[in-house]
Amino acid sequence: MAYYNNRREEPLPNEDIQTWECTSENCNGWMRKAFAAVETPNCPFCGSLMASGIRHTHPLKNNSLHNKE
Ligand SMILES: [Zn+2]
Repeated sequence: MAYYNNRREEPLPNEDIQTWECTSENCNGWMRKAFAAVETPNCPFCGSLMASGIRHTHPLKNNSLHNKE
């Protein structure tokens, strides 16, 4: 599913990516589905269930986990 191109000097446009979003109101945790190891992960920050979501963001960031924007 992942693909790469070699033109690293050019900024990549943002894309809509599939994510898991933490369902806790007090937590901003989310992860890319492409990097999620299981089908229905729990939040790595607070342990809450995660809901399927979409984010418009940079497609090739190295980090697979985020708790602050
Ligand atoms: Zn969380």
